[in-house]
Amino acid sequence: MIRKDIIDLFRVPLGKKVRLKDYNPGWKQSEEFKDFGKDALKERAKVILDENLVNLAEAQSLLYADDRFAVLIVLQAMDAAGKDGTIKHVMSGVNPQGCQVFSFKKPSAEELDHNFLWRYMRCLPERGRIGIFNRSYYEDVLVVKVHPDFLGRQLAHEKVGKKFWEARYEDINAFEHHLVRNGTVILKFFLNVSKDEQKRRFLERLDRPEKNWKFSASDMAERGFWDDYMAAYEDALSATSTEWAPWYVIPADYKWVTRGLVADIITTSIQALNLKYPEVTDERKLLSDARKKLGAE
Ligand code: ATP
Ligand code: MG
Repeated sequence: MIRKDIIDLFRVPLGKKVRLKDYNPGWKQSEEFKDFGKDALKERAKVILDENLVNLAEAQSLLYADDRFAVLIVLQAMDAAGKDGTIKHVMSGVNPQGCQVFSFKKPSAEELDHNFLWRYMRCLPERGRIGIFNRSYYEDVLVVKVHPDFLGRQLAHEKVGKKFWEARYEDINAFEHHLVRNGTVILKFFLNVSKDEQKRRFLERLDRPEKNWKFSASDMAERGFWDDYMAAYEDALSATSTEWAPWYVIPADYKWVTRGLVADIITTSIQALNLKYPEVTDERKLLSDARKKLGAE
């Protein structure tokens, strides 16, 4: 289990303007690992992740049995930050029946014909389940903020300015508050990869034939807007890290760090619900109670 004070390092404080410069994408050293060499560190991280996966599988089976809460995990990141790998590893021990993953791409014409939250609402996890959003409604204040022409007819009557985005943050906060008050736990992770590490991973995708398929020209184009994206992330994280649905800025230059932290935060958040397996009702007692009640009438 990773210590709480370490996890607190990555939780975005409420009501404070986020500066991504304050978060180190290459973080890998906590006090307890200070004296470890590189290999020992990786080894230890793997042990922690394996422990976590066992705990997470247990927590998830309890969530399923208890059937009162749902968990929504939101993953946002620049390309090649490791969203897919994180989902694959973190969820590897979890019962597939209790887990749903939705990946959101460019919206369809039908989706654009509705309010911006519509397509996400339809994919929310039921009670007892973990739902993962691989990209999410946050795209509507990130990629869309970087490229406002994506709004198209969604732009009913307003002008796209500061007020427009503030209204979207407000809508998102209200939407999430509604979900939390109805039994959904929301955990939001921004996988914070550095521009240098993204370059390294893109080059790897180009160099290795079995990774070529992962590379797309649009990834390069979006990299050109890096600073605009960072500004959009800073605004969104600042406006939407709430008491009921906090953001975590997860260091993402080392995959094992990302995976360990995400697994740990999910596990501890479910454990904090103090769930219990439902008590089995004794059928015979039920019958004899009913008989007694009727006899006393
Ligand atoms: P991969 O790791 O496979 O690249 P990905 O999540 O980047 O996964 P892609 O199909 O490459 O998937 O990209 C999806 C694209 O859809 C992203 O560029 C994302 O910004 C865009 N997108 C997602 N939601 C919206 C939205 N609401 N409006 C406009 N674009 C969106
Ligand atoms: Mg992509």
